[in-house]
Amino acid sequence: MSQIMKGDASGRGAVAGYRVSIPARQHPYTEEEIAAVVNVMRNVEGQTQGSYLAQFQEDFAAFTGAGHAFAVDNATNALSLAATLCGIRPGDEVIIPAYTFCASAIPFGKAGARIVWGDIHPDTWTIDPEDIRRKITGKTRAIVCVHLLGMPCDMPAIMAIAREHGLKVVEDCAQALDARINGQHVGTFGDYGCFSFHGAKTMTTLGEGGMLTVRSDEDAALVPGIRHNGCCGFDFPRDRYWSPAMSNVDMDIEGFWPNNFCIGEAQCALGSVELRSLRGYTDRIIAQNDRLRQLLADVPEISFNKIPDGYRHVRHQYVQHFDGSAFGKNRDDLLDLLTEKYGIRSIVQYYPLYRYPLFQKLGAGEFDCPVLERWWDNSFSVPMWCGMEDEVLEIISGSIKSAIADLKR
Ligand SMILES: *Cc1c(COP(=O)(O)O)cnc(C)c1O
Repeated sequence: MSQIMKGDASGRGAVAGYRVSIPARQHPYTEEEIAAVVNVMRNVEGQTQGSYLAQFQEDFAAFTGAGHAFAVDNATNALSLAATLCGIRPGDEVIIPAYTFCASAIPFGKAGARIVWGDIHPDTWTIDPEDIRRKITGKTRAIVCVHLLGMPCDMPAIMAIAREHGLKVVEDCAQALDARINGQHVGTFGDYGCFSFHGAKTMTTLGEGGMLTVRSDEDAALVPGIRHNGCCGFDFPRDRYWSPAMSNVDMDIEGFWPNNFCIGEAQCALGSVELRSLRGYTDRIIAQNDRLRQLLADVPEISFNKIPDGYRHVRHQYVQHFDGSAFGKNRDDLLDLLTEKYGIRSIVQYYPLYRYPLFQKLGAGEFDCPVLERWWDNSFSVPMWCGMEDEVLEIISGSIKSAIADLKR
């Protein structure tokens, strides 16, 4: 057992000796996607900042309905761009859910913000708007809402609070591509939307990649410079093509250093092709999760997040909650059995961020999140990928039922 777990930090990836484990990727590339990458390798002279970037951004804006879209090298850096555009200065407070992947918070901490941890809503497990309201002070500058697990946050309520208090809203959509509320795509409610094309996400541009969506034209004008070392294309007439110099540094935003967050042409070409079939993948993943929920509907110890009417929750992770308090057992007892006796690798994600020494030492160890504290230690995720057969879902649900029966004995 300890042998198998050694060096296996994330819990992802196939592991020999298990009946069902969690793959590192949701689905393989199609031949058309592979051809798009090879075409850029063979035939395109400039490997970055070209027409495939422009096309991918246009396609992504069309897919989401965003006003502007900017492709970047990963979602963490999309969040960094958003932090810069929010104008975060040392001492500003930013409200961020404590239940999320660490990258939702790190760019804001780096920008000097004091992180105020938001609690989750007990039904949806996303940030609770009423808790946001309670935590707003005169120093609050922005709210980061994370559509975690693929579930949209309550954006109408959050936007109403933000407007009332004049706050910026950043949407972390890293797990929520194609998630919508009444047809409106996440990432288009707030000021900024941050998307990930990391290898484990629903769509991946060769392992890394991201997108920033921006609502206002003024913000959009600043992004290319901040993204590319302060350089922009020449948009003024020049007498001589070499004047003033190649790589014009024309970023004009006061008090912030620029970055290089660019993504290459092959990744962009791939992204455009992937977007065309994305809907089919998310539909399938949703149907699989519905089936799993149905198979476990008669197990009172297991619960899933409740999906409000009109919400398209894209089920990026198959997270559930175990309540074994009636017979004195907890999540860890259940996962021990699932792993050792039934050969199902389950994982737990995401550890409340204030519990990590990294955040504590950087001044973000304070918290007031009673719902998360009650809920988290009994939550877990079972394996998921796109194309799970009913048989696999039945192995998972059947094993959970048997393991719970074992625990009751
Ligand atoms: C994956 C993820 C990120 C970071 O995405 P990268 O593209 O790997 O930088 C941020 N937030 C959440 C919620 C994520 O799941």
